[in-house]
Amino acid sequence: MRRIVRLTFNMHVPSFIETKRDGRVHAEADLREFIRGFTAGEIPDYQASAWAMAVYFKGLDPAETSALTRAMMHSGRVLAHPPGSPPKVDKHSTGGVGDKVSLVLAPLLACDGLWVPMISGRGLGITGGTLDKLESIPGFRVDLSETETTAQLERLGVVMIGQTEDLCPADRRLYALRDVTATVPSIPLIVASIMSKKLAESLDRLVLDVKFGSGAFMKTRAEAQSLATALCAVGEEMGVAVTYLLTPMDEPLGRAVGNSLEVAEVVETLQGRGPADLVALTLDLAERVARSPREQLARWISDGTAWEKFVALVEAQGGNSAVLGWMREVHRAPLMHEITATHAGRIAALDAGQIGRACVLLGAGRKQASDSIDAAVGCELLRKVGEHVERDEPVLVLHARNEATLMAGLRELEGALQIADGE
Ligand code: URA
Repeated sequence: MRRIVRLTFNMHVPSFIETKRDGRVHAEADLREFIRGFTAGEIPDYQASAWAMAVYFKGLDPAETSALTRAMMHSGRVLAHPPGSPPKVDKHSTGGVGDKVSLVLAPLLACDGLWVPMISGRGLGITGGTLDKLESIPGFRVDLSETETTAQLERLGVVMIGQTEDLCPADRRLYALRDVTATVPSIPLIVASIMSKKLAESLDRLVLDVKFGSGAFMKTRAEAQSLATALCAVGEEMGVAVTYLLTPMDEPLGRAVGNSLEVAEVVETLQGRGPADLVALTLDLAERVARSPREQLARWISDGTAWEKFVALVEAQGGNSAVLGWMREVHRAPLMHEITATHAGRIAALDAGQIGRACVLLGAGRKQASDSIDAAVGCELLRKVGEHVERDEPVLVLHARNEATLMAGLRELEGALQIADGE
């Protein structure tokens, strides 16, 4: 039976945490008050962390999940687009390793005459974040005001920003806390985090990339399906047309993991030299919300149209576009370490989870909320699963800041590379 416990008016936060710890149901008003108090800084991080862990174990039912999403969405402003403006579309990934699709897809969709008001996040757990990647471009600002956001949408059709004190501030705080308290892989918390951002964008259409595998929060396809169903239910309840793809995340996407290395790969992709898996997934997702057919979208990637839009986006947000072709040099890590094949054969596995964790240990992600990101470090994949490698040939290259982080990364990578004998 659904026993709703109502505490609001002088909320006693320990009782609110207890309600969830004991598997009971929150009243909507309590969730609203909790999010208000947390966003205002009245509820400290340790209480919010304890509550997030209770949700991790006990879950939220569908009504609580939509109430939390609404509370988080209304913790700040909701974008108001001018009447008669083009359709507003976006894509969001539930998080993967080497997943830099947003940086290619957002400018691509803007080439189609659509508006893409993309609000993204930072790295979460072992998965990289769009904001951290963009900030590896010197000068790039992700904290535009609402006026700047609207003006850029009108001028370019695309803007890529983060949660701010005005837009989804509740997710800004809770996201940072979940990142370092092992409370990310909770379906209701992921739904509220993603959908509060996307609903604050006032979208017409949204496509979700729901990932499963060792480098994703959902380990199995069945879990990813449950997450997709929950995401769609909240989106549809709020009037947004939501579609999704379930995509594997057992090896990293593309050949680069780590913030500036991934931007370098985005530049190559927008110049028509991208890895096949990254290009294919970008087109699979883009065609779900675009007006033009896949062939046209592919042409905009190969003929430089999407690249020009990306350069304009970087410049509009204060980034130095002159260095985009030199991202590997702008942020060169002092140590490079090759992992070579112990024997010839076909690559059978490059474990995305281990590579993601190794990159966090190298400094590409956060272990504590106050950690800063090292834009230079990460891992390059010289070979992908299914490709042949000769004995002693390099397969992975680690970019490290110092010996200690390199050793930690190498330890994490033990067993990540598997080569099938003699193929
Ligand atoms: N992306 C988000 O924005 N939030 C999550 O919780 C997971 C992925």
